[in-house]
Amino acid sequence: MPIVTPDQYRTMLKAAHDGKYAYPAINVSSTETANAALKGFADAGSDGIIQASTGAGEFASGLHLKDAVLGSITIAEHIRRMAEHYNVYIALHTDHCQPKKVDTYFKPLVKESIARKNAGLPTVFNSHMFDGSELPLGENMTVAKELFKMCKEADLMIEVETGVVGGEEDGIDHSDQPKEKLYTTPEDMVGVYEALSSIGDDFLLAATFGNVHGIYKPGNVKLTPIILKNGQDAVIAKHGDKARMLLVFHGGSGSELKDIHETLNYGVVKMNVDTDTQYWFTQPVKAHMIENAAELTHDGDNMANKKKFDPRSYMKKAEENMAKRVQQACDDLKSTGKTLFGK
Ligand SMILES: [Zn+2]
Repeated sequence: MPIVTPDQYRTMLKAAHDGKYAYPAINVSSTETANAALKGFADAGSDGIIQASTGAGEFASGLHLKDAVLGSITIAEHIRRMAEHYNVYIALHTDHCQPKKVDTYFKPLVKESIARKNAGLPTVFNSHMFDGSELPLGENMTVAKELFKMCKEADLMIEVETGVVGGEEDGIDHSDQPKEKLYTTPEDMVGVYEALSSIGDDFLLAATFGNVHGIYKPGNVKLTPIILKNGQDAVIAKHGDKARMLLVFHGGSGSELKDIHETLNYGVVKMNVDTDTQYWFTQPVKAHMIENAAELTHDGDNMANKKKFDPRSYMKKAEENMAKRVQQACDDLKSTGKTLFGK
């Protein structure tokens, strides 16, 4: 199946919302990790979302260019070509874009999609995140509205954030944020709804409820999913049931299953997973290096073993293991076996 059309993406998200399940949104930064995400979704019989960040785009473009836009486009194009051969729906998304990167990342990608749409071609991505959480809500929504209007020109969705996701990801460290910033208020959620619904329905909100990026010892992250329900209730009380929003759970890695399941009742349709898939990708590489250490380096007359130092020998194991973690994410979010492909 090709990458979803705008209508198929809307159908996917509505099915998840109504069926109380969610899609893993897997961060990738290379062809290997992209293939692992595709394999994980295919093995699970689940539709899914694959996303690139600015850091992933820079990485994918290589050390000489370090071009986040170019690298993100190549990741998207790789997945678009490969997804044709899979029997699940895949949507393409870009992750956190802070205000200072809007002109150099968000806008160039959307402009590229507008140009492709005008030429009768599919867009590059299906949706983009603007993360204005460092701004006061009013300023955050002023920028978000401008970007949402631009997205609509190519029929793309936008994801926004209020509150702050704690921890560190992609070089952005929020571990020093005051505790109250980690929790979105009902007023924030009403504010987001009122700002964005004036432009359209195709938006997702990353509301924060104590969630963090990165990896923590068990018990160190206190999630409060009820915050999402309280926010939805406040929006619905003011604007009616049709105002229920599609929510995104950031920092899904390492979260307890009971908390993940609770969020599915409150409108979470997308959960980002990055740290755990990075970890699962790396473990077989580590094992390979340790097991084969003596054969990886030329030592006097003993030449290294080409079968063991060919990067494919350990990257295949990494892809396989990461795909398993993607499959687990589908199980956790109850999207396993629910692909809409062919239905
Ligand atoms: Zn995030």
